[in-house]
Amino acid sequence: MSSKISRRAVVQGGLIAGSFIPVLGLLANSATAAGLPPVDPTDPTAKALGFVTDSTKVVATSYPAHKPNQKCGTCAQFQGKPGDATGACNIFAGHSVPQGGWCSAWIQKPA
Ligand code: SF4
Repeated sequence: MSSKISRRAVVQGGLIAGSFIPVLGLLANSATAAGLPPVDPTDPTAKALGFVTDSTKVVATSYPAHKPNQKCGTCAQFQGKPGDATGACNIFAGHSVPQGGWCSAWIQKPA
């Protein structure tokens, strides 16, 4: 017994399956960021990078290059969406950072 699957059915199935992949990726990112524990500022890596949960608390004498507009929400490493209170950070894998936080690994998010 041979099964007949038309080329059209294969193409349609592939297109339908392919259309769900980006949606699943977005859902996975949202769920992942929401469940992440916050970075502990006393963590050795966090301390080494001068991480603070409030960028207005950056010690200017220690980080003279810090500017008021530099915060996690404007950093290229921040994985949250604009307006998110917190988001994942590429530097602190497995943890979330507040959008108003900062560390010395800050780099301008591309426009
Ligand atoms: S790398 Fe960027 S997003 Fe991550 S903690 Fe530092 S300033 Fe915030």
